[in-house]
Amino acid sequence: MKLAYILWGILLLCLCGWAQAGTLTVSPDLQPTSLIPRLRLLEDPQGKLDFGQVRSPEFGDRLQPWNRAAANFGYTSSTYWVAFTLRNPTDNPLSLLVRQDYPLIDYLDFWAPDGRGGWRHISTGDRRAFSSRPLVLRDFVFPVALPPASERTYYLRYETQGALNIGLAVSSESAFLARMSVEQFLLGIYYGGFLVLVLYNLFLFIAVRDRAYVYYMGYALSYGLYFAVINGVAFHFAWPDNPWLGNWSLIVLLALSLVFATRFAREVCTAAQLAPRIDRIARAIQFMLIPMLAVAPLVGYRPVVTAFTVFALLVGLLLFAMGTVSVIRGSVSARYFMMGWATLIASVIIYILKTFGLLPHNGFTHNAFQVAALIEMVLLSLALGARVRLIRKRGYIDELSSLYNRRFFEEQLSREFSFAARSGTQLSLLVIDLDHFKEINDRYGHRRGDSVIEAVGQLIRRQIRKPVTACRYGGEEFVILLPRTNGEQAVVLAKRLVGTIAELHPNGVALTTSIGVASLEGNHFSLPMQLFEAADSALYLAKQRGRNRYAVCGGAACQYDDGGAVNIVEPDVL
Ligand code: GH3
Ligand code: MG
Ligand code: MG
Repeated sequence: MKLAYILWGILLLCLCGWAQAGTLTVSPDLQPTSLIPRLRLLEDPQGKLDFGQVRSPEFGDRLQPWNRAAANFGYTSSTYWVAFTLRNPTDNPLSLLVRQDYPLIDYLDFWAPDGRGGWRHISTGDRRAFSSRPLVLRDFVFPVALPPASERTYYLRYETQGALNIGLAVSSESAFLARMSVEQFLLGIYYGGFLVLVLYNLFLFIAVRDRAYVYYMGYALSYGLYFAVINGVAFHFAWPDNPWLGNWSLIVLLALSLVFATRFAREVCTAAQLAPRIDRIARAIQFMLIPMLAVAPLVGYRPVVTAFTVFALLVGLLLFAMGTVSVIRGSVSARYFMMGWATLIASVIIYILKTFGLLPHNGFTHNAFQVAALIEMVLLSLALGARVRLIRKRGYIDELSSLYNRRFFEEQLSREFSFAARSGTQLSLLVIDLDHFKEINDRYGHRRGDSVIEAVGQLIRRQIRKPVTACRYGGEEFVILLPRTNGEQAVVLAKRLVGTIAELHPNGVALTTSIGVASLEGNHFSLPMQLFEAADSALYLAKQRGRNRYAVCGGAACQYDDGGAVNIVEPDVL
């Protein structure tokens, strides 16, 4: 018995809910309220019906209650008719605003009862001039007036070649204004963010002159404008009298942002070196986009929009693969690129799930795509920064030996010298010169000589740890700078190097080396260069004493510049 009551109760509730589904009771302070679940809807596949037919009893019954939270129909060639009913229970007339919040509908028609038995008809849409809108706003907003204690039914007709998204809400004028001012403020921040990124990177480009910045700016500008078109901002402010441009600009901007994104990604991921195969595919796609764009107006809007959407997905996945490979192969800037790209892809997935109704339609899912685009732009700007740091570092690296170069050594020597002087810590220096290298070149050729220098560079790198730095000073000379190391400890390394280089036989070449050692300990150097000259004098002595050995310029006795005594140590590893 009890169960039967409960079931009756549930059924009654459902029936009441259903009965109310068509009508929305409004109030003077009505907050923005979605009309979608209360719509009655008719699909007209041929688009042949007119307003009179839709209202006739014959077709009127075919306007079916929609009862769902979203009404997105994707790319459809059908025309859609919707109707909704508002009830004013108060004793005062009410002025309300009905808003269609997706502004890319080609042809949008609105009919409201005029109170004298006729209809007020508004024809607008983004294929019609901006001035066709009843209110000068980026979305379509229709004012409606409800007399006291009345019920009115309104009709809309949707026809478009792009995505058909019905997003209808109604609110009181004051609630609408409050919502609008917040939205305008947020949009200002949003496009301001894009603008700041473009200007910031423009200044960096002027300073750095790296072409990756140009691709970045192209991408940020076309992508930012693309969203301005989607939001209706571009049509409102940029080309209100040109609906044709308004519609095609979406495709042009999408294509341009794909070209720039691809070009930018190839650059920051150093794809040509790190992912050459993907890079070739990306380049091919990049070159395909431009002719596709050129023939687009001949083919028509619908197929072109579909083709570019598919292309955008392909490019998204391709660049994801490119970034992954580059990260695995050690690119630091590709890491930032991947963070940015992954954010964008995640937001696209949220957007698709929302469009198919698998995720609820709320502030987060609705705006995730756009917000992610801005976050992505910030991360890509960081990728550029990482790339510039890398380029600067490359200016300090010697290509042949992969050690630091002379420029870096000179800067590092003066840094470490002043640090040691300030903190009273030790600092030692080794100057290394390969023996009889001219003969090696003469005998085996210059190329083989190069491979010997490369092998010695690798050997030195294996022998040292931070904070010790090894540099190729030039030719077949190397230097090793040893912070917080005294002469005795430096000699241990010099001795080991003389021994291991003599055993190396790189590329079958018999090779020995001479090393000069100097340290701050017990000396009174006032300039970094004096430490270097001391080590160089020690090297000269090691050479004089027969090579394949090291010499130390140490202790207070190191007065080499005025011919003073130099302390020579014979290695016992000979
Ligand atoms: P030693 O130092 O023992 O007195 O004799 P050396 O033959 O090494 O004499 P020196 O330092 O004056 O000559 C260095 C030679 O190294 C000169 C040049 O032919 C060769 N060399 C310099 N730079 C390079 C290089 O980058 N590659 C090759 N293959 N040879 C180089
Ligand atoms: Mg030399
Ligand atoms: Mg030499």
